[in-house]
Amino acid sequence: MLRLDGVRCRCHGRFMTTSPLTAAGHWIGGETVAGSAGTLPVVNPATGDLVAETAAGTAADVDRAVAAARAAFPSWSATTPAHRAAVLRRVGAGLAARTEEIASTITAEMGAPVGLSRTAQVAFPAAVIDSFVGLADTFPWTEEIGNSLLVREPIGVVAAITPWNFPLQQIVSKLAPALLAGNTMVFKPSEVAPLTARILAEVTVEAGLPAGVFNVVYGTGAVVGEAISAHPDIDMISFTGSTRAGRRIAAVAAETVKRVALELGGKGANIILDDADLPQAVSKGVAMAFTNGGQVCGAWPRMLVPAARQDEVVALAVEAAGQYTVGDPTDEATRIGPMAHEAHREKVAGYIERGVADGARLVFGGPGRPAGLEKGAYVQPTIFADVDPRSAIAQEEIFGPVLTIIPYADEDEAVAIANGTAYGLTGGVFGEPEHALAVARRLRAGQVDVNGGQWNALAPFGGYKQSGNGREFGRFGLAEFLEIKSIQR
Ligand code: NAD
Repeated sequence: MLRLDGVRCRCHGRFMTTSPLTAAGHWIGGETVAGSAGTLPVVNPATGDLVAETAAGTAADVDRAVAAARAAFPSWSATTPAHRAAVLRRVGAGLAARTEEIASTITAEMGAPVGLSRTAQVAFPAAVIDSFVGLADTFPWTEEIGNSLLVREPIGVVAAITPWNFPLQQIVSKLAPALLAGNTMVFKPSEVAPLTARILAEVTVEAGLPAGVFNVVYGTGAVVGEAISAHPDIDMISFTGSTRAGRRIAAVAAETVKRVALELGGKGANIILDDADLPQAVSKGVAMAFTNGGQVCGAWPRMLVPAARQDEVVALAVEAAGQYTVGDPTDEATRIGPMAHEAHREKVAGYIERGVADGARLVFGGPGRPAGLEKGAYVQPTIFADVDPRSAIAQEEIFGPVLTIIPYADEDEAVAIANGTAYGLTGGVFGEPEHALAVARRLRAGQVDVNGGQWNALAPFGGYKQSGNGREFGRFGLAEFLEIKSIQR
């Protein structure tokens, strides 16, 4: 492991001087580069303690990182996909080998329960890398159409900007295809959860990635994010985050005609049909609303149920919700930790109060803190029934453990409600398989699970409408990071 630069940091009450939680300097051209504009704190949302500090990046730091990525581009882009896949395979193995360290780092910086951190925050990224490595041999890097030779080539310098909810998964979902395609990268992690960026950088070095191919600049969206969006020598931005920030990035990037891929917010609907297995549909639906404290872009915070079955659904949902122990995210028994930061807790709590004020029927949780958790960014997991589909809690992305149960009269109305928000990222349908499939095809969303279909790392993921544009994962995700040239002969 690389020696870090000695900033002291606090993890679960212990001081650690060479911990990977220390991430003060940017990572540019294979070196730690001190920031010139002070530092940003990283705060544990369960305790309010300072976990570590990172450099607060500036536009000059972005310039330096872009220059390093540009300099590394000619030689990296000239390597073969097989060579790049081999490096990525070692990156995946390197991350897996540091599972405990990464999991506890993410838990400390954004409060995910440690059990979830091991799986969704580390095992998933490793699986994503494997899935791209497997594509290197089969992807059509060149093909012929009539007298034309089609050649897929890297775009150049790609910037990645990511949120805090799955910090490693979000960057790996961009790094693996971007690097496999032959691009070089500048990465700005979320200022809320920036610490695994440094671990990832170390792992890439150990995996043999040349200096300058992957660079990290820490900082805020307002400073570093804006500088990236405007930079004339960045060829593409791959962004995951809120619709608000995505809109701004697309507007600023338009001046330099960059390619912009946007993975934005969501308000997924889970349609439970009359012929569904209710206990299965409700238990999966509650999980899809509460996992990671509901801080999941692809979550299903809306549960649409036949009006005549609402009472049965409410009873099942309340029983399922009782299993979601809220508390210290380092405790293995915890299923919901704190919200990722205090301002976000206030936002989620505000929506819970708004739901009550707007007349939705509170059936679980509610305003106020969970019992015994007077400190930390905690909210109560909450379920509302009889929710008006036009109300704020049914329309806006809360990004917290708040489930809205919405009754519908018939299937057409269910589909209209499901499609009736500004978003279109994910959805679920439960029912007799052919029936559920037919309803799934009517949803205006990029990814729909029927009867709890399993996650597939090769299936494209992305949004319709204001949930974004572009797709991640598999061959569609890889194609996002490639130009295509046609040569007529
Ligand atoms: P956010 O948009 O506030 O921040 C995301 C990133 O964008 C951060 O790195 C931030 O610093 C940066 N940023 C903010 N303003 C910027 C600007 N003007 N220019 C450039 N960069 C800027 O989102 P968040 O609070 O970190 O994460 C939660 C949001 O992310 C939710 O809306 C959620 O739905 C979304 N999300 C989407 C997906 C997906 O795949 N579609 C996945 C996870 C999260």
